[in-house]
Amino acid sequence: MKQELVEFRDGQDWYVAQVSDGPHLSFAFDQEDQVYHFLAPFQNLSQKNGFKVQVFQWSSAQKLARFMVDLINRSEDRQLTLERRGAALLVVEDGRLLHVALPENGEELAKVLGEADLEPLLIATRNEGKTAEFKKIFEPLGFRVENLNDYPDLPEIAETGTTFEANARLKAEGIAAITGTMVLADDSGLKVDVLGGLPGVWSARFAGPDATDADNNAKLLHELAMVLEADKRSAQFHTTLVVAAPGRESLVVEADWPGYIAFEPKGENGFGYDPLFLIGETGKTSAQLSMEEKNQQSHRAQAVEKLVEVFPSWRDGQ
Ligand code: IMP
Repeated sequence: MKQELVEFRDGQDWYVAQVSDGPHLSFAFDQEDQVYHFLAPFQNLSQKNGFKVQVFQWSSAQKLARFMVDLINRSEDRQLTLERRGAALLVVEDGRLLHVALPENGEELAKVLGEADLEPLLIATRNEGKTAEFKKIFEPLGFRVENLNDYPDLPEIAETGTTFEANARLKAEGIAAITGTMVLADDSGLKVDVLGGLPGVWSARFAGPDATDADNNAKLLHELAMVLEADKRSAQFHTTLVVAAPGRESLVVEADWPGYIAFEPKGENGFGYDPLFLIGETGKTSAQLSMEEKNQQSHRAQAVEKLVEVFPSWRDGQ
């Protein structure tokens, strides 16, 4: 039986392999678990030889993988190549991916697969801030997140619905039908109980088609001028999220953030009705929260949390 010793040694790493063409030999390790788990899959790459590998010093997964690939190539006349994608090491032969070695905490999918191979998810907004929030959630799930700025030729979808869900569906389902991709749309606004849910879907244009935030806030205070008891001024910020894909029933989630309408604006942060929205029983308006504080509890944050829970099973049900 033929036997050969192969050694690699530099300042940081030192490995020795005993190669045998006998059928009885296989990998043998007396090293720590981490090395064992890294090396064991290389056993499956071998087609005829047995290897007994001794790792005395180990600093680099890439060096050890390179050593194993070279070893198998030389002793079995193979053409394995080792490629790196981020922190992942890919073993490839004749264009076939045979093994992926990953660090313990994995690697971002986009770095391993490459952007082009990821499924697109189009967020129906031109707002890059909103897009960035959804990127944080959906990129780790294997999506390439895009927004309407990536599709300059798409027609504007008029929000003609009378409910948040109707408007979010109009955007998500309308754009999914045109582009053929999965689309996420949201619709948000303020609902004031004593006004029967107004301004509701008309929140952005409550004081008129070109209303500013200040105009809308002034109009809201005006509408509530006769409601003098604080607890009669209850309201909710609302968000509905819809995910649509061609030929599928859409996924809908929604959340409310309860509070009251203040008698005068307070706070400098946020946008829209934030200076008038007293959160729960805190006596603070949402314009008095930092962006981080608001993002932990807002209607949008709660809806996104729900979406994260139900999205994977909706997606798998495709
Ligand atoms: P959109 O659907 O997110 O564009 O929100 C529509 C309108 O609802 C905005 O123009 C605001 O007037 C109001 N709105 C929605 N979310 C918020 C919020 O978090 N703070 C203040 N106003 C909001």
